[in-house]
Amino acid sequence: MQVTVLGSSSFFPSLRRSWTSLFLNLGGGDAVLVDAGSWRLMTFRADILHTNRVYITHNHPDHTGFIGALVRRMRRQNRTRPLTIFCPTDTVQRLHHFIRIFNHNKIPLFVQIHPFTPDIPRTIDHLSSSQTEVKAAAACHTTLTAAYAFCQGDKRIIISPDTGPRCPTLLTLARGANAWFHDCTFATGRLLSIRKGHSTPQNAGGDAARANVKALILIHISGLRLRNPRAIVAAARLHFNGEIYIAKDGMSFNF
Ligand SMILES: [Zn+2]
Ligand SMILES: [Zn+2]
Repeated sequence: MQVTVLGSSSFFPSLRRSWTSLFLNLGGGDAVLVDAGSWRLMTFRADILHTNRVYITHNHPDHTGFIGALVRRMRRQNRTRPLTIFCPTDTVQRLHHFIRIFNHNKIPLFVQIHPFTPDIPRTIDHLSSSQTEVKAAAACHTTLTAAYAFCQGDKRIIISPDTGPRCPTLLTLARGANAWFHDCTFATGRLLSIRKGHSTPQNAGGDAARANVKALILIHISGLRLRNPRAIVAAARLHFNGEIYIAKDGMSFNF
């Protein structure tokens, strides 16, 4: 599977970093998105229109703001194939709002929204062409928030853009995974990060070590705060010995 970062920024973006979204090419014609905050959904290459699922982590605008733009592009191609959107229960209104803004105040018929309550890790979806099992678990954030795992055989990728550290349900979801795309909103400030439901690089490195994952990919980063990427990696390295990357918009990872 290939994961392409469409947006790697926290709520404070920069010209190079847009709000959160990741595009996953799962093989066998299955393509999915996690979150829809990135303005690149308006312009990114055409294969994004093959997306058959969107998994939304939570209702904050930096994760939902451009779902309407994506739906608009699909509508203009006369799409009839369903676009299935999974999201926490309290995110439906927000999605309706952003879809209506871009689509003449309507929700096109091909859009199907499946709300659920994230809790302990459980399977929420199965994509048969690519033999992918999708699991969700509750993240530790300021509102009802999901994290997702994409599992193919013994391969597992975890995506949790907004979470505080030491989140028990996430540590269970991530145990032994190949890679963890982990919140890295704050450069420093352990107490601030816990109070705000976000993480520092030290927090992310600690979680990666506790879950014994192979690679840690830091996302949901403030472009303004990222003056010294080496220091960010060094801070995560204090706890974690595996591979560490700082996600950038447009970057792809193959697993
Ligand atoms: Zn966010
Ligand atoms: Zn958030």
